[in-house]
Amino acid sequence: QWGELRQRLRKTVGQNNYVTWIEPLKFRDLLDGVATFDVPTTFLGNYVSQNFSDLILHELHSRNSDVRRLSFKVVANSDARPVEAAKPQPVERKPSAVSALNPAPLDSRFTFDTFVVGKPNELAHAAAKRVGEGGPVTFNPLFLYGGVGLGKTHLMHAIAWELQARRPDLNVLYLSAEQFMYRFVQALRDRKMMDFKEIFRSVDVLMVDDVQFIAGKDSTQEEFFHTFNALVDQNKQIIISADRAPGEIKDLEERVKSRLQCGLVVDLHPTDYELRLGILQSKVEQQRVTYPDLKLDDGVLEFLAHRISTNVRVLEGALTRLFAFASLVGREITMDLTQDCLADVLRASERKITVEEIQRKVSEHYNIRLSDMIGPKRLRSYARPRQVAMYLCKQLTSRSLPEIGRRFGGRDHTTVMHGVRRIEELKQQDGQIAEDLELLRRALEA
Ligand code: ADP
Ligand code: MG
Repeated sequence: QWGELRQRLRKTVGQNNYVTWIEPLKFRDLLDGVATFDVPTTFLGNYVSQNFSDLILHELHSRNSDVRRLSFKVVANSDARPVEAAKPQPVERKPSAVSALNPAPLDSRFTFDTFVVGKPNELAHAAAKRVGEGGPVTFNPLFLYGGVGLGKTHLMHAIAWELQARRPDLNVLYLSAEQFMYRFVQALRDRKMMDFKEIFRSVDVLMVDDVQFIAGKDSTQEEFFHTFNALVDQNKQIIISADRAPGEIKDLEERVKSRLQCGLVVDLHPTDYELRLGILQSKVEQQRVTYPDLKLDDGVLEFLAHRISTNVRVLEGALTRLFAFASLVGREITMDLTQDCLADVLRASERKITVEEIQRKVSEHYNIRLSDMIGPKRLRSYARPRQVAMYLCKQLTSRSLPEIGRRFGGRDHTTVMHGVRRIEELKQQDGQIAEDLELLRRALEA
């Protein structure tokens, strides 16, 4: 148990502090609420008790509420005199208000340094950066929304890390809406609502992740609303994330919605090819630390960026698996290996292109109305795009010819077949058509 706890402390205090101060501690026992650690020197014992005892106590306490105090015993020395936790007995102090909530630790990988910026997320990134500076509050709340795996949590942690570095004086609290609800219910049950309110109203920056979770949970929403208002009134920064825009969260009270909308609302768009490639390249750099001499063929990253869905988590998972697999079997990462190793992921993320999408893209491309393309007009300027669209439907969807015909104003399957053949011929003879097809195909597969 101490081993696991040490790993959490490592994250919190950083590798250097950890190696110097935490690693040498040996857990001895827990008696009458006093957790005793063996330490090699008096100096180390004093230093740890002065600087880290709050933290250690807080961690221990959150696992086992019996723990009330720490004690350090010097064992390498002949005098095994306990170094009673230093004056003025910092360990007797209650963990600070916010830490009493035992908020989830921040992920050390989620910083601005590791966040790859592209068109789809540049606005969200810029807004997050601004809030992370810890200057005067300009937009409140900052509301980040977007589909799963697009980097909302990453950005929120990055803000928290940045604030901790730049403004250690600020009380920053990050938690998920689920944790908010859990604390709230717990406070109700333990009749500690006063404490709960006090803690939440004393933070300087409040971040609530995945706020859609409280939709439909009336009393939690109520409390959230009050907390929110109290903080905004004190001009404290609030940062919220959700999987959709405030107005689109069902079962959320109107007043909560409008409150959420009154700051800056920015969305993280689905990733595009360039962003996916950028993310893959940066993740490869990170994988290189673990696998310094794995060979990676050209084209593999481009292939993955093309083929894997917009969810960055899936993309990351695929890359991690690929490197682990290649190093296990001792092979280079080639296209073949990639396709073997990721067959299931690739299949699952095959994008389903619809007939409607094709029709829309083609009519936009040729600058004609959708209704004209689908309708009965036989003019060449409509008929040709119509045939192109039919051809693409045959190539890119699994629809049969009769099904395609039906979606083009109830045309017969032989008409579709004729159109498809015609385009196949033209593709060989007409450079312009070939180019159009290539452009359209790429736009549709992006
Ligand atoms: P969300 O909270 O929006 O569901 P996360 O923030 O948890 O998504 O992101 C999922 C994973 O993808 C995380 O490992 C995160 O580091 C990574 N990720 C997402 N966007 C980016 C990005 N732009 N650059 C680097 N990594 C990213
Ligand atoms: Mg998230």
